[in-house]
Amino acid sequence: MKEENCIFCKIASGEIPSKTIYEDNEFRVILDISPASKGHALIIPREHYADIYELPEDMAGHVMVLAKKLAAHMTEALNCDGFNIVQNNGEVAGQTVFHFHMHLIPRYREDGNQDKLCWNHLELSQEELEDICRKLRK
Ligand code: 5GP
Ligand code: ZN
Repeated sequence: MKEENCIFCKIASGEIPSKTIYEDNEFRVILDISPASKGHALIIPREHYADIYELPEDMAGHVMVLAKKLAAHMTEALNCDGFNIVQNNGEVAGQTVFHFHMHLIPRYREDGNQDKLCWNHLELSQEELEDICRKLRK
């Protein structure tokens, strides 16, 4: 399934050229056009799923296995010092392209980024934590 006006559908199918570092029947992995570091890559499924909610479970498994293999390969090839794997869902969470993708971000000691990807830390009471825990426990 493809979406007509989706840039990642076009990149994944090869209709739009990209700097591809890996491909198989299910995925194309490309260098990000606006990288956070040298080697920042995106795992893109060839089929169109908007986000993790639409992604089938078997694909979720395959994407994680591929991320693990590429993390090892890229760390060796680029000699990076660490690695972030990031995956955004929804505008509020920073998603800008609404075709599921996983960011592979090699990290270097002096890459100019914050050590940790940033968020604010909340101070929640025990009651609030308990309440959230109750809502989430399966
Ligand atoms: P998101 O913000 O949705 O998690 O990530 C989208 C990513 O796709 C961004 O890091 C952005 O730089 C990258 N990107 C957007 N358009 C293109 C493109 O046409 N080519 C490539 N290679 N990367 C793109
Ligand atoms: Zn798409």
